[in-house]
Amino acid sequence: MKEKVFDIRKQFQDDLSGIRQVKDVELLKVKYLGKKGLLQELMLELRSASPEERPLLGKNVNELKEEITLLCDQALEGLRLKEQEEGIACEKIDVTLPGRCQHMGRVHPVNKMLLDMLDILSEMGFSVQYGPDIDSDYYNFEALNYPADHPARDMQDTFYINEEMLLRSHTSNVQVRVMEGHQPPIRIVAPGTTYRNETISARSHVFFHQVEGLYVDKDVTFADLLATMKEFWAKVFRKEVEMRFRPSFFPFVEPGVEVDLKCTACGGEGCRLCKHTGWLEVCGAGMVHPEVLKSGGIDPEVYSGYAWGMGVERLALLRYSVSDIRTFTENDLRFLEQF
Ligand SMILES: [Zn+2]
Repeated sequence: MKEKVFDIRKQFQDDLSGIRQVKDVELLKVKYLGKKGLLQELMLELRSASPEERPLLGKNVNELKEEITLLCDQALEGLRLKEQEEGIACEKIDVTLPGRCQHMGRVHPVNKMLLDMLDILSEMGFSVQYGPDIDSDYYNFEALNYPADHPARDMQDTFYINEEMLLRSHTSNVQVRVMEGHQPPIRIVAPGTTYRNETISARSHVFFHQVEGLYVDKDVTFADLLATMKEFWAKVFRKEVEMRFRPSFFPFVEPGVEVDLKCTACGGEGCRLCKHTGWLEVCGAGMVHPEVLKSGGIDPEVYSGYAWGMGVERLALLRYSVSDIRTFTENDLRFLEQF
């Protein structure tokens, strides 16, 4: 019996030296002090000891019980303290570390330009209309007065999907679609992506954005086009701009013009931006051709209109003094973060 007490003490000391976690101590307590624990077994055995031995043995067992209880409590306290310290250590903040840079999303410069243009045009009374990127030859060319064999079709190299369908080469494909659904007055702008089969270079791309404007009503004249252009460009560049019209040819307008602005960078003196001409080409425009009005079911004897189209990337290049159109689609954050 005495040896048994000695053995259990020895066994407990071995077990205690192996514990690593709080839950190990809980298991230890069950093993020695529990209802079916080793010490309870000893107590039961006491009954079979002789009456002379019993008091001393009982004392020994009780001392062992107290000892084990105390050692378990101490071990628990030590482990809890250790866990707490470890927790604090991994939560420690090094206030001398440099901050981490958070990248903020922002509007792409081309979209920014486009949204500004649409804001201005909405203020001027134009509503926004959208058309399909993939359209028929009819809406992209034929209805806009490009007959099937017209040499003007060679002016734009177009991505054809099949004989009939193509990727629109301008947002002018919206013109006749809108006329078919509405009677004048029509006062709309059509923004969107356009596609042309061109060699990609610093100044041209196969994929770009356009904003097309269209106004059809009674007694619309060339003077109205001029006034609209003057107001629009002054708002885009936030100052009075000098403008000139040069005669040009587009099948869907008659007469047609190219609109130039006095260079906004050098004021006409000549610089790199205007290629030393003093002028910037900003859009094509003209009076809507009577054949186009007829395609849209509008009587050209009663109504007239003007239309103009401009490239959004081209304007973004001018506004932000960017020299290469390709940078807009390269997704280089070093470039995009500047806007
Ligand atoms: Zn210039």
